[in-house]
Amino acid sequence: MPAHGVTRVDHAVVSGTFSLDGEIFDVDNNIWVVGDDAECVVIDAPHDVEAILAVVGDRRVKAILCTHAHDDHVRVAPALRERVTAPIMLHPADKPLWDLSHTDHLWDVDLHDGFEISVGGTTLRALHTPGHAPGAVCFHSADLGCVFTGDTLFQGGPGATGRSFSDHDLIVESIRTRLFDLADDTVVHTGHGDDTTIGAERANV
Ligand SMILES: [Zn+2]
Repeated sequence: MPAHGVTRVDHAVVSGTFSLDGEIFDVDNNIWVVGDDAECVVIDAPHDVEAILAVVGDRRVKAILCTHAHDDHVRVAPALRERVTAPIMLHPADKPLWDLSHTDHLWDVDLHDGFEISVGGTTLRALHTPGHAPGAVCFHSADLGCVFTGDTLFQGGPGATGRSFSDHDLIVESIRTRLFDLADDTVVHTGHGDDTTIGAERANV
């Protein structure tokens, strides 16, 4: 009997706001939950704890993985941590952004390039892909054939780099050198909007 059931990726869209540099925008964020029937990880914690818990169900949460620390991705991370008793993991280069959202909480575990976490029969590996944010990371599952890119790569090309702590040349370099290492048929699960594939985005970066 296998130790794990079927590994799966669950998803919901939650609505809220993103604020930086004194502007506020309405946004719809994807949340991604990866695991099996027993355990999972949550990728990003925007806007609404209950919406995330509805996707988690009664599974044990091993970690709250943050693709980066813009407030629309980490706003409810501490509140979610209270409910599921799981560590928040973030690349430490995003501390300046985290500090804009959370002055009274820190994250628990520093992510780094090559960091791996196993959950529900798969392994996610962190790829440090700075540019949209200094501590932006993507999470790649080789066996599931997918990568969770946060705001680094969308359907149509790179994430925004017009605001503080962003760097256009760096995001292009990150995508070309790290994400375009992945196979063309790798499914890209983004932080906002629809899925795409690595192959489809090669023409857009
Ligand atoms: Zn962002």
